[in-house]
Amino acid sequence: MSYNAFITRETIESDTEGPLTDKTVAVKDNISTEGVRTTCGSAMLEEYVPPYDATVVQRLKEAGATIPGKTNMDEFGMGTTTETSAFGPTDNPAAEGRVPGGSSGGSAAAVAAGEADLALGTDTGGSVRCPAAFTGTVGIKPTYGLVSRYGLIAYANSLEQIGPIAPSVEEAAELLEVIAGPDDRDATTREAPGDGAYVEAADGDVEGLEIGIPTELLDGADERVVETFWEAIDELEAKGASYHEVSMESLQHAVEAYYVIAMSEASSNLARFDGVRYGPTQEYEGNWNEEFAAVREEGFGEEVKRRILLGTYALSAGYHDKYYKQAQDARAWVKQDFDSALEAADVLASPTMPVPPMERGESLDDPLTMYLADANTTPVNLANLPAISVPAGETSDGLPVGLQLIGPAFGEKTIIRAGSALA
Ligand code: GLN
Repeated sequence: MSYNAFITRETIESDTEGPLTDKTVAVKDNISTEGVRTTCGSAMLEEYVPPYDATVVQRLKEAGATIPGKTNMDEFGMGTTTETSAFGPTDNPAAEGRVPGGSSGGSAAAVAAGEADLALGTDTGGSVRCPAAFTGTVGIKPTYGLVSRYGLIAYANSLEQIGPIAPSVEEAAELLEVIAGPDDRDATTREAPGDGAYVEAADGDVEGLEIGIPTELLDGADERVVETFWEAIDELEAKGASYHEVSMESLQHAVEAYYVIAMSEASSNLARFDGVRYGPTQEYEGNWNEEFAAVREEGFGEEVKRRILLGTYALSAGYHDKYYKQAQDARAWVKQDFDSALEAADVLASPTMPVPPMERGESLDDPLTMYLADANTTPVNLANLPAISVPAGETSDGLPVGLQLIGPAFGEKTIIRAGSALA
């Protein structure tokens, strides 16, 4: 059965030996691969072939990995279901008739179906963690600055990181170890404190671990999800962890702030797709403005257009203070709240997604409901913190549920250790 996990199946071989020799690592189609087309799930880039490798792809090659192809995604990363791709939707190998989550749904489906050993996704507001949760796999969103974004086709620069998706925490850690570390070509990267020995950290030892549970991240969640979440917490408690609940009021505003910031950055990033520098050049007998409009009308899908319009509006003179500036203030508040909550806890825990995987087609006509499904993942990107999603179990009706563990900046080892007690 094909899950439509790949947009392009073309094997990229490595010619060196390393820690990932004999492993296949599927790469999301917004990460540049030299000589292999990179579409971002968009008709706009259907024929775009990058002339260079992203830093993470270079590191995969140096580690001996084989790349079996480029994976399907929501167009430009804008979505939660992998249904907005110009190359058709991806199916969920772990839940028939349901979405695999997004936007890195192709990467997660490839791993869940055994079509790749490991995969890279990108997470701007949950796009690694959500598909991991929906397909019963493990996903890590690294601390902002741990992994180079050089060669990643940007959606919202201040929020996103490339991260691993794998069948187990240990394998996710293995892939993280390969891609992490500073890069001269991305000035936002930095040397992480500590030894970066992520694989070693996956020892399942949660004795003495203190878990904080933000009540705001349980409030709106589906009952079936909450039940499965508590079962996972009980399991961690049985292994020696303890927990307390904590209120973080700012989280009630995080998803709104996220969408204003993400759409604003997107409207600016996507301006380059005009048919002159990127995108299909058309034979057009009109003025430049008309041609620009025609290329974008044809090349972008509905969701991308909606976000460019909203983002442009939020940034425009007269509205900038009302929307963009207010969203930045909320972002600062979210960061502060996380800092205080992480003073009293080693990690914070929540359901990764407040809902189980949606039925195919359910979210397409209802963007607002789809945005709200990102309530638990987006605050982490606003605060630039690391988080992991591990399988928490299944709902009583058999749907996968993810447990999200959030750590302090560069606390990857802590969330890997905690997560490895479960997967
Ligand atoms: N679902 C969120 C959005 O649509 C997150 C996407 C992502 O992380 N790329 O913006």
